[in-house]
Amino acid sequence: MLFYAVLLPKERMSNANTQNYFKDFQNLIEIQGLEGQVTAQNKFFEGERQREVLLQRQKNQKQSRLKELQDDLKNLTLFLNEKEKTNAQNQTRIARIKENILSVTDNRQLTNLETEQKALTEIVQNDENSIFQLMLKIDENESEQKDITNFFPGFEKTILEIKNEVIIAHKKVQTEVDGLKMRLENLIEITEPKLIAAYKSSRKRYAEGNVLCFTQQAKCLECRFAIPRQIESQLENGALIDFCPGCARLLTPLSCKY
Ligand SMILES: [Zn+2]
Repeated sequence: MLFYAVLLPKERMSNANTQNYFKDFQNLIEIQGLEGQVTAQNKFFEGERQREVLLQRQKNQKQSRLKELQDDLKNLTLFLNEKEKTNAQNQTRIARIKENILSVTDNRQLTNLETEQKALTEIVQNDENSIFQLMLKIDENESEQKDITNFFPGFEKTILEIKNEVIIAHKKVQTEVDGLKMRLENLIEITEPKLIAAYKSSRKRYAEGNVLCFTQQAKCLECRFAIPRQIESQLENGALIDFCPGCARLLTPLSCKY
């Protein structure tokens, strides 16, 4: 923390030619407030825009899932047709074996036929099981496809609504920000340039949030760093431009707030 104390440019005014910066500090507080409002407006707009982006992304995800399901369904159907075809062929073969068994006279031939029938029956059973599983998968696939397809009209509607909201938000933010910026420019113009420069230097360090810090009982209210009493009293008289040695924010008379 002491690091800042060494590196910071000092804007301390000698007592001989102190100027009262009190009013300028008040302007600075207002400037900080206006800047905060600009940031908030921009964030609000960015939030609206993100909603649209997010929804569009969800829609794309659903679309690619749908494509995946359609491809799967094609393969599943092909596979099912294949299995059904083989199954029908095997059943015909079993029926033929059964006929042959009736007319067989040789014991060895009978055993062979029975073995073949048993093996084929097992294959048929396995295939029927696969066919059943495939049908289930096809059902699941089709119902997921249906769910996704049902989603789309809602998506379109919501995306359109959000798009309109974004347009409205953009107009609103633009108008607000323009007004705020005009007030900011006016304030900057009537404020002591040294103070503006000091403010900007703190702002460089902290892109958002407070860069003005008040002191109370010789402590920075932002970072609790101890401020020499003498400096604190000069600050309170609006006679000093200085940075907090702890957080490098611009020290500001607390009485400015009221
Ligand atoms: Zn501080």
